[in-house]
Amino acid sequence: MTLPTLALNDGHSLPQLGFGLWQVPAAQTAEVTATALRLGYPLVDGAAIYGNEIGQGEGIRASGIAREKIFVTTKVWNSEQGYDRTLKAVRDSLDRLGLPWVDLILIHWPTPARDLYLETWRALIKARDEGLCRSIGVSNFHQPHLQRLIGETGVVPAVNQVEVNPRLQQPGLRAFHAAQGIVTQSWTPLGQGKSFAAAPIAAAAARCGKSPAQVILRWHLQIGAAVIPRSTRAAGLAENLALFDFALTEAEMAAIAALDEGQRCGPDPDTFEIV
Ligand code: NAD
Repeated sequence: MTLPTLALNDGHSLPQLGFGLWQVPAAQTAEVTATALRLGYPLVDGAAIYGNEIGQGEGIRASGIAREKIFVTTKVWNSEQGYDRTLKAVRDSLDRLGLPWVDLILIHWPTPARDLYLETWRALIKARDEGLCRSIGVSNFHQPHLQRLIGETGVVPAVNQVEVNPRLQQPGLRAFHAAQGIVTQSWTPLGQGKSFAAAPIAAAAARCGKSPAQVILRWHLQIGAAVIPRSTRAAGLAENLALFDFALTEAEMAAIAALDEGQRCGPDPDTFEIV
């Protein structure tokens, strides 16, 4: 099965569906990664702060899938922001992954009060120029943070990975992304299950013979976002991959759009400063 991809603004492409490794125990990560890749996921989303990059790399090798068929993401943690620290952090991540380059590196959070994200971005531009990654992007950036990066460097992030789920749909930020050619990649896409019982989700699930989680993931695909759900169970991974044999109607999409409450599961990027 060939899954859909989204064109990135740098000429590369991003698989629209992948799986995430946040909170996957380090000892389980290689097995989860290999299982997911063998099931057909083309993208694995990791990060230095997840503490499981060694397993992420082991799982990639154990899967038996050719490296060029796998899209590998990692992220630079807040404590490593700044030009020199970021370049070292990128090399450290590659060492842990056991890879000479990755497909995508993101700045994990802007941590705006520390005011280091601009030089961190310049370091990622350098890392890309040195061939340590193919694409560079950000995570949890708001429009003013993006505008500053673009204005100062002229380099538009390929991706902004942000919290998106039915209760936090981020229409304004997604419209800005679309105007700038930035792909939105949704984290915590299932929204901690808080919308599973909502009437539009339950009704679409019943009509399509799918689970609420599958309806929500399909909604992400149909709004044009990339999405990276997490499950450590093979059955859960398989369920979250089975999104391509049904479609939500325009009326169902509109009813889900009405569930937006602007309510976050995670922290607010304007104030999240933990290093
Ligand atoms: P998620 O929305 O993928 O939900 C995961 C939870 O939902 C788990 O408890 C899992 O057991 C459960 N689940 C998974 N599939 C299910 C199904 N089919 N039915 C019912 N329950 C199901 O949440 P997440 O892990 O927070 O986000 C996904 C990925 O996004 C992470 O693993 C990580 O890679 C990334 N992420 C990035 C950031 C960031 O700051 N950039 C923050 C959070 C997460």
